[in-house]
Formats: sequence, structure tokens, C-alpha cells
Amino acid sequence: MLVHRHIGNVDFAIDPSQPVGICLKTNENDRLKFSNIKAFIDWIIARARMPATLQWELLSVCNFKCRFCYMVGHTEPTIFSSERAFKLIDEFVDAGVVQVILTGGECLIHPNFTAIYEKLRLAGIIVSVFTNLEKLTAEHIEIFKRYPPYVIEVSIYGHDEDSYERVTGRRAFNQVLHNIEILRDYGFNLLCKTPITTLTHNSIDWIYNWCQNRNLEYLADPSIKDGLDGDDLSDFSLKFEEYYAAEKLRLHLAKNLINSTNLENRDPSRVFSCGVGKVGAYINYDATLSPCSSIRNQRFNLMELSFADAWQQLVNNIQAQENLVISGCNPNCSARSICKMCPAVAFRDEEGNYRVNPAYCERQIALAKVLAISS
Ligand code: SF4
Ligand code: SF4
Repeated sequence: MLVHRHIGNVDFAIDPSQPVGICLKTNENDRLKFSNIKAFIDWIIARARMPATLQWELLSVCNFKCRFCYMVGHTEPTIFSSERAFKLIDEFVDAGVVQVILTGGECLIHPNFTAIYEKLRLAGIIVSVFTNLEKLTAEHIEIFKRYPPYVIEVSIYGHDEDSYERVTGRRAFNQVLHNIEILRDYGFNLLCKTPITTLTHNSIDWIYNWCQNRNLEYLADPSIKDGLDGDDLSDFSLKFEEYYAAEKLRLHLAKNLINSTNLENRDPSRVFSCGVGKVGAYINYDATLSPCSSIRNQRFNLMELSFADAWQQLVNNIQAQENLVISGCNPNCSARSICKMCPAVAFRDEEGNYRVNPAYCERQIALAKVLAISS
């Protein structure tokens, strides 16, 4: 079965029985070789702004209570309305959505996860799933077998039951690893990940080796966000040498990822050079649309607005800022190639002008030095 899509002036079809399954007319197939979805999206959106990629929090609830989580314990427990979710998917198709990344909280425990996932895939949308995988069911496996996800990204939080319990509050170690092996044996694309924190950094070597021994791709990242209620979670962040070593590992692992898009060069002094509001946006658990997970103070209400109207308001908001620069960025800075300065990190004054966050710059420049010295 093929699902026909028309986005901008591009006609294509998606085969939902494949993880990607993009089908183009023969003459276009001959001309274009897409190594990953990003290349396809770049081609589609070359002529127009389009919400081609969405990340979608289906709920703020989780079966785990990770102590460094920015959501659980820092938001009202909220589950995305299934009724609105189903209508939204129809609106995605009209608006030109190509791929959706389902996340949470823990998206597998949304009461209508399977139906939402199936509707997305049958609408010709490519879907990835971010999960802790403790609550994988036979129903999930069946729907993934019928309509495979592009990738399932699984967070692994420890190297035994005790370390798992210390981080997540649950002795879920054996269950999670067992579920990963089930999905691997079915041949799904998997990416295992760990946030490197004060609670997990002693587990990283073990998890890395476990993944290597099973040919599973692995990513670990030491960045920690504040709680969504503003709580300071920086106590869980590694400091100084430990942090730089963890960043070095992150960059090394990201470089090895087949579909990595993390290392592209962009101008850190330009506002929104990352592409939010041009190629995609973020749907919060409370049914609002934001530019990304780090900029949630701009919210457009999807219970009151159609998706197209919310996207248009978000675009207007971003376009009004795109000619702004983030002042104070040194064009000869040694950290340019690894810097991710953006409106989420920069300071903004009352007139709306952005300037670099000196503490962030200091950290990036020190990291660049560590990377250069040891390379
Ligand atoms: S598994 Fe993820 S969403 Fe759940 S508590 Fe841990 S960090 Fe938060
Ligand atoms: S670290 Fe600061 S000065 Fe250096 S490139 Fe990034 S924003 Fe500019």
C-alpha cells in the first residue's frame, strides 16, 4: 500500500510498511539520492517554509522518575487529548509534515499510543519514537512490525538494577535491556542513549560496551536542562574535567552516527540559524506549539487554533526576529565549530536585543581548548 503525499510542488508516496519508504517518480529517483530523511526534507523545503519535522510530546507523565528529568516532577501531569491528536494528524498532512518524533514523558504509556502511531504512519508520515522502553507491549511490537518506525531511540539509565533504581526509581534494568534485544532481533533501527549526569556517568562504559557488543548505535550527552518549572537541576551536571571528557565522548559518538546531523556548521551569531520555524517546530504535552524544546515561552494553543494557524503565528514570530544578530560573538572564536549559541542560550534585553551568554561562551571556549589539546 502506498500513501500519496503532495507537499509544496513535490508529489511523492510513502510506503508505511518501510521505516522510511519514500517513493518518487522514476525520473526524480534517477536524479536524487537521499541518504537520510534530512536530505529529503532539505529538498522538499528548498522553496518554502514548511513544518516538515515535528517533535511531539504525547504526555508529561512517565513510568520513571529520573531525578534530573526536566519534566517529571516539574510539570502538571498532563496527557495529550486523543481526540485532538487524531484531528491534528489530518492537519499535519495538509500542512506538509514529513516526519514526527513521538516523545514524552514516556510516549508508550499514552493510552492511545498505538492508534496515534498507526494513524500517523497511514497518513504517510515517517515516525520516530523516543522511549525508556520499560513498558513495551505485544501491541506496540505488532504495530511496529506492520509499520516500522524510522528509529526507536531508547534511553538506558544504568548498568544494573541498583543503578537503575537510583536514577529512575524503578528496578527496570533487566526489563529494558530485554526489550531492546527483542526489538533488535526484529531488525528495527535502534539508537541507545544516556544522559551523562552525576548519577549515570559511572554506568557509561558498561552501557557503551553492551551496545557495541550488540552492534547497537549509542549516544551519550552531558547537557542538563533546568526543570520546566524553573527548578535548577545543575547539581546533576558534571563539572570541569569530567564535563569536558563527557562532551568529548559525545562528539566522538555523534560523529560515528550514520544519520547524525549534530555537527553542521552554522553561524552562532545569527538568531534561529538552527532552522526552527523554517523546517519544523515542537508540540508540547499541553497542546501548544513552540519553536523547540528549549524555547517554550512562545506557545501557540492547538486547542484553540488549527495546526496551520498555529504554525503561521509561530513563523510570523520567528520571521520578526530573523534579521537580529546575537551581539558579542567573536568572529574569530576558537569554539565556533562546536558552538550552539541560539535564542535559547543567549540573553535578551527589554528592547528585544540578544547578546551572548558569557558563561556559555566560557564553557565552549574551554571545551574547544580541551578538544584541540587532546586531538
Ligand atoms: S525516562 Fe525520560 S521522561 Fe521519564 S522520568 Fe526519565 S528523563 Fe523523564
Ligand atoms: S562561544 Fe560565544 S564567542 Fe564563541 S562562537 Fe559561540 S557565541 Fe560566539
